[in-house]
Amino acid sequence: MKLHAIQTGSVRIKTAQVQGQGHGLRRRLRIFSDKHWTDWLPTYVWVIDHPEGVIVVDTGQGTHLLETAKSLHPYLRWEVTFRIERDEEIGPQLRALGLRPGDVTRVVLTHLHVDHDGGLAHFPDSEILVSRGELRTASGWMGRLRGYLPNRWPSWFDPVSLDLATEPFGPFTTSKRLTSAGDVIAVGTPGHTANHVSVLVEDQGITYVLAGDTSYNQRLMLAGAIDGVCADENVARATLRAINLLARDRPTVYLPTHDPESAERLANQQLA
Ligand SMILES: [Zn+2]
Repeated sequence: MKLHAIQTGSVRIKTAQVQGQGHGLRRRLRIFSDKHWTDWLPTYVWVIDHPEGVIVVDTGQGTHLLETAKSLHPYLRWEVTFRIERDEEIGPQLRALGLRPGDVTRVVLTHLHVDHDGGLAHFPDSEILVSRGELRTASGWMGRLRGYLPNRWPSWFDPVSLDLATEPFGPFTTSKRLTSAGDVIAVGTPGHTANHVSVLVEDQGITYVLAGDTSYNQRLMLAGAIDGVCADENVARATLRAINLLARDRPTVYLPTHDPESAERLANQQLA
């Protein structure tokens, strides 16, 4: 098995989104009054080149995100900016790795935010797994009001529901094994979105956490510091606690989507 990090462009957001300031609704509105932007942060996609088939976790950004500045949605219009070129999308980069998108048997989406589902168009022949609740939240006009872009999904998009069993895996209360070997496991990591999932990859004694947006970097995970967008603070905190417990319990490499150090940690197998 080989695990690859692929950067699909980058993103800037407000610092109040990276680390929540205050509580409740005020924490979520703080993003709009915050004048401080982050540096450009990477948006990673993870490719698990597995003997049972290639699994891609998230699909990253697409060039359509360059138009969000014209969006009517206040968050997309004012609170986020993207950088991405066509050959930085996941499809061309897979080809550069010697893989064809058609070789990808499965795509797992941690959640459906615009910088995670932006490369879906490259996978018309793959089985796509999305948690049922996340799909419901992101669909239709209500999805658009919440800042999702269901109108950008390919017409063929009809994902398979990723239904996690109430079967604990380590400190996580819900899980589902995605390979017969049992070495790729989806676990429920609610917080950033209510039905957010992460993917664990066990390889040669190390557990790699393909963490999506459970936190924007490792420091915030270790500190148990929640972001500025999650709906339920206690749920988000419990997820960060679970990841901390996992890292205490076994050799763990933590790989959030937007952590500038994720790719280096993967390359050096640097433990949390
Ligand atoms: Zn997100």
